[in-house]
Amino acid sequence: MDEERPMQRLDECWDRALCVVAHPDDIEFGPASLVARWTSQGKEVSYLLITRGEAGIDTVPPEQAAALREREQLNSYRPELLFTNSPHLSFGPGLLNSADHRAVGLAALDASHDAGNRWIFPELLEEGLEPWAGVRMICSGPPAHPTHAVDVTDYFHQGVASLREHAAYLEALGMHGDPSPFLRSFMEPAGARMGCELALAMDVIYGPGMPQQTPTGASRPHAD
Ligand SMILES: [Zn+2]
Repeated sequence: MDEERPMQRLDECWDRALCVVAHPDDIEFGPASLVARWTSQGKEVSYLLITRGEAGIDTVPPEQAAALREREQLNSYRPELLFTNSPHLSFGPGLLNSADHRAVGLAALDASHDAGNRWIFPELLEEGLEPWAGVRMICSGPPAHPTHAVDVTDYFHQGVASLREHAAYLEALGMHGDPSPFLRSFMEPAGARMGCELALAMDVIYGPGMPQQTPTGASRPHAD
């Protein structure tokens, strides 16, 4: 994690989020505490787990199925915030981010913009799904160079309980016993930078629902 770069508090003035992740445990390795905070605020948070669905369409190759299903999910659910896997090659010095994470993170980012264009997937129009250009933020992690963070101190125990449910997977990774120290190992440094005990850091890219800003607050040129 880049210790020098300042992080901003994430804007939480929105109602609907969609978490698009490659694997069933991707939310539990940290973001579950964040989801617990958001649901306690009354927000709607839905999950789209790509590896449960990408091989589920016989006539469509997995990589196309993932992108298509993300588009379908965006158009039918109309989220304001997306949370997804990091699309970057690395999530820390010398640490390779998995190919699944990179592919899903990039597809989700692209889908957040493509969902607003009625001509890219005309078959969705035929299904009655109107374009949705209202995604305001795409949050991804674990971030190599985080731009934003959220205080999850009060929701940490819920995140730990969620991760404990993946007992067999944790055993396979060699993580025996309480997963709290692992989660604290990256939430405490982020919390120290945000002035709280525990925080979840993330990369934020603004979507078409927030067209006049970049994550640093500067205006951006028209993208298309
Ligand atoms: Zn994963």
